[in-house]
Amino acid sequence: MQLTDRSKKTDKSEMTLLETLYLPEIARGMGITLKHFFMKKPTIRYPEQKRYLGPVFRGHHILKRDEQGRERCTACGLCAVACPAEAISMVAAERVKGEEHLYREEKYAAAYEINMLRCIFCGLCEEACPKEAVYLRHDKFVPVFTSREQVIYGKDQLVEDMNDRYERDAWTKEEMQKLWDKQK
Ligand code: SF4
Ligand code: SF4
Repeated sequence: MQLTDRSKKTDKSEMTLLETLYLPEIARGMGITLKHFFMKKPTIRYPEQKRYLGPVFRGHHILKRDEQGRERCTACGLCAVACPAEAISMVAAERVKGEEHLYREEKYAAAYEINMLRCIFCGLCEEACPKEAVYLRHDKFVPVFTSREQVIYGKDQLVEDMNDRYERDAWTKEEMQKLWDKQK
């Protein structure tokens, strides 16, 4: 009994002389090869060239600083609570007098760690953060690693570099496409 109409009937009739020569099929195959030869190449030379990943791509985490370079995170722990993989841990500390230029809030994360082996890149930490401090970059992968120690990301790998600021809004699809075209 036939459940669908998707099956194809096999043609078991004798091949014609032209078919036994295979020449038309070889020519057809060569035509397809030639067509692809002149088509735009889909491969890119990563990591020199980077493909546009999309505005909602969730990659490498970043702990943002504010406009004055102060850490935004106030160590409230909401990201850790929201994390379904229990990948985030932190140690909170009180800001003391003279540290106002370092930390925006009265409380800050003295230590902040994300275990990338646990992380499933769901973005819930980003959603939960009331200080717009933690983001998952849409332009950067988590690099390959060779040992477990390398994937416990501390503040040294997470806190934003003021000389290389991450601005998600500035990375529109058109802008990224222009960058990509320039690299070709
Ligand atoms: S992206 Fe998801 S799994 Fe990863 S640290 Fe954030 S909340 Fe946890
Ligand atoms: S990153 Fe945001 S949610 Fe997480 S502890 Fe810091 S301020 Fe709170």
